[in-house]
Order: sequence, then structure tokens, then C-alpha cells
Amino acid sequence: MRSRINRDRLADTFRQLVLMDSPSREEGAVADWIKRTLKEEIGAEVIEDQSRGQTGSESGNIIARIPGAEKVVPLFFNAHMDTVEPGRGIKIIFKDGIFQSDGTTVLGADDKAAIAILIETARLLKEHRVSHGPIEFLFTVCEEIGLLGAKLLDPALLEAKAGYALDSSDPEVLINQAPCAIRFKVRVVGKAAHAGLHPELGINAIQVAARALAEIPLGRIDEYTTANVGLIHGGKATNIVPEEVELEGEVRSHNPEKLKEVQDQILETFHRIALDFKLMENPGLPLIKTKIIDDYPLMSVSEVHPLITTAAKAAKGLGRNLRLDMTGGGSDANIFNAKGLATVVMGIGMQNVHTTSEHISLDDMVDAAELVLEIIRMKR
Ligand SMILES: [Zn+2]
Repeated sequence: MRSRINRDRLADTFRQLVLMDSPSREEGAVADWIKRTLKEEIGAEVIEDQSRGQTGSESGNIIARIPGAEKVVPLFFNAHMDTVEPGRGIKIIFKDGIFQSDGTTVLGADDKAAIAILIETARLLKEHRVSHGPIEFLFTVCEEIGLLGAKLLDPALLEAKAGYALDSSDPEVLINQAPCAIRFKVRVVGKAAHAGLHPELGINAIQVAARALAEIPLGRIDEYTTANVGLIHGGKATNIVPEEVELEGEVRSHNPEKLKEVQDQILETFHRIALDFKLMENPGLPLIKTKIIDDYPLMSVSEVHPLITTAAKAAKGLGRNLRLDMTGGGSDANIFNAKGLATVVMGIGMQNVHTTSEHISLDDMVDAAELVLEIIRMKR
């Protein structure tokens, strides 16, 4: 089987994609290349959705249909087109079978390795006239800045109701569980006063926030739940009792009830601490304003879902193991699952993603391409 993947062509496609800058919202060039390649070379039906009006991206999400003669359940394969910063003018280095950047940018294997793997798979299907069922490729925009493309995707644009997202590291792992997450903002409004002349007239917003911060649950809360405050700004000068401070944080959990519990506990703590600071002469102060932003919903695909049994069988056929795992992060797959598109996440070998030491081995990319091809070829 291994010999069937065109290694050099896969490597070339990956290089070509990496050289096209595509930070979030600037996916235009990559999207055009994908559309052209799949239309002209593969003969796929390619559509772009209307999401760009809302994401502000140069492109919408791209959906490509490769019809299949076999009457089997349609499947989709997903990759995102955007990369994180620093991701402009990437210089790709290939040494000892490993792709990396020159150390000044990310590599962008997240998720261009996935795009290259899918394009190579489409080419092989055509070249070898592989008999298969209906396949769809779904390329999203703005994954890295809040899963924006996925959130705006109309699932009715896809014929397939289940698929694989190629967007994680370990090629021997399928991810079927990911947490749900919220972000929160807390603004503490106290009262400004001259710190030297009339400190007793002020309410120190930073102190209120600090007392609350010392009490709220943070870090690893249990095996399935984490919380963090990652941003804080407030205050104007050392000689002014600070009037305002704003904190931003997040909570993630594999258990939605636990998430809600921690979220409530955090907000209640701020309100309770504020009460301690309330003074007769300043009714209503300190004021606590809170905002909860739903980040992404829970992802949990049953271990006996056909997506998983099919992939396991395909891997076995290739003499490989595939195990299930959970992740601590959200991805497009969380959104797809919530929209009724069952999705599991496949590892493709990318390592140290979102850092300038990101790298990927060509062997892992070849392995991932083989697995995708084998899944497509299987009589499901
Ligand atoms: Zn990614």
C-alpha cells in the first residue's frame, strides 16, 4: 500500500501550500489554489459558502464533492485553511525527512499538511480509478481565531453527515472527545480618588479583583475541568486609587454541568467580595459587570460509531494500530458535532504546533494519506 502514495508529489504540494501565506482571514490564495486544483485536475464540484461576509475573510468555506459510484454512506474530510502568526513569508526546510521552518515563523503544517494529504488522496483516487462512494472535502476558514468558519457553516451544504477532521498530532490516535469551553470577562468598577490626599474616598478596583482572584477556582480543577484567568488590565497611575479593572479568563470541561458550576462559582465570588467593599456613601459600588461568551460545545463521539470502527479496520488493514483519546482543546470538530455532523479528529504527525519549532515528518504525512485512502476504499 505504502508505495501507492506519491511521496514526492505529496511533499511538493505541501511545500507549495506552505509558501502561500494564509493567516486567519487571509485564506484567499490558498482557497483559490484548492478550488482550481480540485475543479480542473480532479473534476470535483466545488462551492464556496457565503460566510466571508461575516468572518471578514477573503474566502468562504470551500466544499468539494467527488461523486462515487459505490452506494455507501458519504463521508467528508475536513482541514482548515488558516494558520497562526507568525506565519508570513515562511521559509520551509526539509532535512532528514522532517519539514520545519527557519525558526522565525510557524511551519503551518497545522493545517496545510492536512490539505496536502487530501489533495494527494484525490489525485490517487483519480489516477488509480479507485472505486469508492461519495466523498466531500470541507476546507474551513478562521479556525484559529474562534472556529469562525465552522460556526457559520450550513451543514445542509454537505451530503455527508459524518467525517474526519485532519487536525491533530499523533497519527496513531483518533480523537473522539473534546471539552466544551466558555470565556468570561469581569469588569470591576470601583471609585477613583487621589491616593495621597483622599484615599478613603476611593474604592480600589484592583484590590477588589485581587481578593476575588485569590478565591476563585483556577488551574486544573478535576480530571476533566480547567479554569484560567489570562488577562488583566486596569488602573491609571500610582497616585490614583484605580477605578476600573477588567479580567478575562476561560473554563473548559468534558462535563458541561461541571463547567457551569465552575463558571457560577467564579461569578458569585466576584459579587460576594464586592459586597464586602460596599460603603454607605457609595451606593452600588463596587460594581461587578460580567460577560460569558460560549466558545465551543462539547464533543463526544461514541466509541462504536461507524467513523471509529471504520478507521480502526482501515488501520488494521494497513498493519497499524489506532487508539482513541481525548483532547483538552476545541477545534472545528466540536462545532461540526454540535451541528449534527459526527466528526472525529485524525492525527497527521504535526508537532509543536503554534510555535516556531513546529515540524512534521513526511513519513507521518504518507501514513495519514494511506489511512484516508484506505478509509475511502473500504466497503462501509
Ligand atoms: Zn489546526
